[in-house]
Amino acid sequence: MKRIALYPGSFDPLTRGHINIVERGTRIFDEVVVSVAHNLSKKTTFTLEERLEILKETFRDHSKVRVDYFDGLLVNYARTLGTNILLRGLRTVSDFEYELRMALANKSLSPELETVFMVTESDYGHISSSLIKEIVSLGGSAADMVPKLVEEKLRGKLLRNLREAKQPL
Ligand code: ADP
Repeated sequence: MKRIALYPGSFDPLTRGHINIVERGTRIFDEVVVSVAHNLSKKTTFTLEERLEILKETFRDHSKVRVDYFDGLLVNYARTLGTNILLRGLRTVSDFEYELRMALANKSLSPELETVFMVTESDYGHISSSLIKEIVSLGGSAADMVPKLVEEKLRGKLLRNLREAKQPL
């Protein structure tokens, strides 16, 4: 039976830390489904379509990676994919606290679900989507932390936001 790992996240935006988890995941599982959580109540920098476009472009040549999105309960979505494996990454103790709560909640909703954690590699431990947005909005370079495509899109978007914020009322 094909072992499919579901790697859900906001990916707002995709970072080299996420990519590292996906690539390592493909060495363990037959397929990794990278799926964008479409949560209308959560304000994101990139739209769902933009995040999907970045993911599809980044993993274009990865035959074991599928890009998708979901809304609603993760456990229901996992069922529609026909998998009981959730893949998540861990960087810090605060990640652990959050991830443990989520894993236990998902397990209580769907007892057959197993969350598999992959510990970050040292080069990626400091990388987070929010840190990258802060660095780029302050004029710094995030080239080591995100693919080139993401840095370009992020710079354009954050500069536009900045200009709009400065417009007199
Ligand atoms: P979410 O909003 O669901 O936490 P994220 O896009 O922030 O979505 O992260 C998705 C998953 O990737 C989470 O499990 C997170 O801990 C993990 N992750 C994010 N950045 C890294 C990194 N640099 N190294 C390892 N795991 C990471």
